[in-house]
Amino acid sequence: MSISIRIIETGKIQCRPSMLQQPADRPIWLRQLRVLSDRSWAEPIPVQVFLISHPEGNILFDTGLSPHTKDKDYFPSWMPTFRLTSRFEIDESQGIGVQLREKGIEPKDLKAVIVSHLHYDHSGGLPDLIGAPTFLLEGDYKAFKEPLHATFEGASPHQWPKNFDPSFLKAGAGAGIGPFEQIYPITADGKVVAVQTPGHVPGHCSLIVFAEDTTYFLTGDATYSQEYLDRELTDGVTETPMQAVDTVRKIKQLARQMPIVVLPAHDKDRRLQERIIYNPTTL
Ligand SMILES: [Zn+2]
Repeated sequence: MSISIRIIETGKIQCRPSMLQQPADRPIWLRQLRVLSDRSWAEPIPVQVFLISHPEGNILFDTGLSPHTKDKDYFPSWMPTFRLTSRFEIDESQGIGVQLREKGIEPKDLKAVIVSHLHYDHSGGLPDLIGAPTFLLEGDYKAFKEPLHATFEGASPHQWPKNFDPSFLKAGAGAGIGPFEQIYPITADGKVVAVQTPGHVPGHCSLIVFAEDTTYFLTGDATYSQEYLDRELTDGVTETPMQAVDTVRKIKQLARQMPIVVLPAHDKDRRLQERIIYNPTTL
C-alpha cells in the first residue's frame, strides 16, 4: 500500500481582507484595529482537511470547520468579533465526521488526528472525532489552555469535546529535515512527520509527508496560500508576524533543498492532483 493524500473541504469562510494579509512590520494594535474597522469582504476561502492514507492507518491533518458555526450560539455572545469578521458557508453534509463515514472510515479507526493549531476552523471537527487519538504540539495547547484567553485568540474551547485531553507530539531522536531541526514522527517509518511552524500562533505545526511520488508539505496556517508564502506575506491575525516570516522563509529554504508540493489549509488548486513542485522566488 502506498502513501496518498486526499483533500476534504469542510465548507468555506469569508473574512475581512485585513485578516488575510497585512505588513509584518505593522504594530499589533494597528493590525487589530484594521481588522475591526475593515468593512469589506474577501473572496470565500476553503477550509481543507487532509486525509493521509499510510500502511499504518489513516491520519487526519486538522479537523476543519463545524457545520454548527452557523448556529446562533456557536460562538459566545460576549465575543461578537467572530461574526463581525467572518461568514460561513457550510452545511451538515460537509462536517468531517459525515465526510469520513462516506469514505467508509470510522473516526475511532483513525491512526491519528494531528491538529495544526486550535483556531475554530481547524478544531471544529473535534466533536466528530471522539475516540481517535488526537495530537498537537504542547506549545499550542498551552497557549489555548485557558478558555477565556483561547476565545480571544480565535478558538471555541466550549465546543471542544468534554474533557478534551489531546496527546502532545513527541520529538524524535533523529536528525531534522532541512531548516527544521526538530521532527515529530507520526509513523514508525518516518514518512509522516510534524515540524514546528510557529508564527500564526505560538505552537503551530505543519506536516511533511514523504510519499512515493513526491514530498508534500502541509502548511496548516503557516501560510494562507502558496502565493503568500512565496511573497513572504503574513496574515492579519498573527500576533507574532516576524516569527511568521521566519517560518515561511524556512519553508522556502526547504523547497530549495528538496522538491516539495505545498498544500496550505486555505488554498485550493491543482497542486495535489498534478504534483506541482513549488519553486521559491528569492525576494
Ligand atoms: Zn485557518
